[in-house]
Amino acid sequence: MQTKLSPEFTHSPVGKEAESILRSCVHCGFCNATCPTYQILGDELDGPRGRIYLIKEMLEGGTVGRSTQQHLDRCLTCLNCETTCPSGVRYGKLVGIGRALVEQRVDRPWTEKFSRWLLKEGLTSSLFAPMVRIAVRARRLVPGALRKYIPRSSPRAAAWPTGRHERKVLLLAGCVQPALLPNINGATARVLDACGIETLIAEGAGCCGALRDHLSDHEGGLRDARRNIDAWWPSVAAGTVDAIVMNASACGLAVKHYGDALKGDTAYAEKAARISALTQDLSELLPAIALSLQGKLRIPVGRITFHAPCTLQHGQNLRGGVEAQLSALGFDVQPASREGHLCCGSAGTYSVLQPKLARELRDRKLANLTATNPRTIASANVGCIQHLQSGTELRVRHWVELLDEALREPV
Ligand code: SF4
Ligand code: SF4
Repeated sequence: MQTKLSPEFTHSPVGKEAESILRSCVHCGFCNATCPTYQILGDELDGPRGRIYLIKEMLEGGTVGRSTQQHLDRCLTCLNCETTCPSGVRYGKLVGIGRALVEQRVDRPWTEKFSRWLLKEGLTSSLFAPMVRIAVRARRLVPGALRKYIPRSSPRAAAWPTGRHERKVLLLAGCVQPALLPNINGATARVLDACGIETLIAEGAGCCGALRDHLSDHEGGLRDARRNIDAWWPSVAAGTVDAIVMNASACGLAVKHYGDALKGDTAYAEKAARISALTQDLSELLPAIALSLQGKLRIPVGRITFHAPCTLQHGQNLRGGVEAQLSALGFDVQPASREGHLCCGSAGTYSVLQPKLARELRDRKLANLTATNPRTIASANVGCIQHLQSGTELRVRHWVELLDEALREPV
């Protein structure tokens, strides 16, 4: 795609990077076929090719207004278009550049500004966990649209293992996960413990930065990344950990990008690259876990349907591994009957900011997940689990909780 950058971008690194991405797009439109928002809305400007054009126009000095902002806001950043594109267009990078430019040029109504600020600061705050506990008690008073996201009872987690092992990994506890679904981190530590691996959580580590980044606070996202690097670095530098493990695929994707995000920061570039290289999604450890747990599990009866989060299958290109490994262990696991590649509508804070589209995608996903009458739905990211759970009476779990339960009595 030929692009003539406006003078303000001709010599800027951002302009040059965007130009090289735009050049790789051949305008074929294959990506529209797998874009969830294009599938639902049928508007070219709500598909990747149209959004790419909007960003191109901006970089060429065209006018930009509220409509451009809304088309970019409606993008889930699911990266389905990236894995479909035959030309290797880095859409995720480009839409990040486009959103940052729109944010500088187009003011938002105060209600939008407030809800985005509240999400950014509230979900990452130390007050979030106490607020969840209060919300659980006052659940009946919370308006219906929000009530679905509040747990029915105070979340519980079984005990953290006390075993000490020579093999150690760092685990990112996350920001919302310990408050909403604390059993996931405990289950991860227990399953790894059963495999002879000790799980450490570094003091000072917190949100991976994706939340702020997705809400156009790029600098805030980088601050979170640097804080996590500082928290992990002593263990990494001392060589006491084999890996930095993520059990939320959205966090895994963000941390694997620290190296790229901080490549221009002389103080952090090298550390960030090392941290990214050491980072693994928990499912990447599954072959070794499965080998250790062979014959130690009580496999429950009943089908499990697995929803692969976009951050796992498109963002990290990890497809089919969870289903294959759990099946090899004896679980009856299946992917969604149709449209396994489509986003469930969770997409970070998207389900709160774009509730109508998110609900439509959730219901479409649930229909495909439940077509084979599963006993349980499993996934690999806290956001997807919460969002899917808000639309079904079936239990939605992290796959590691199923392994944990097969090792022990359910919590
Ligand atoms: S599939 Fe790739 S090359 Fe084709 S229009 Fe979409 S982004 Fe451009
Ligand atoms: S990231 Fe997802 S929603 Fe956004 S344009 Fe690509 S396929 Fe569509």
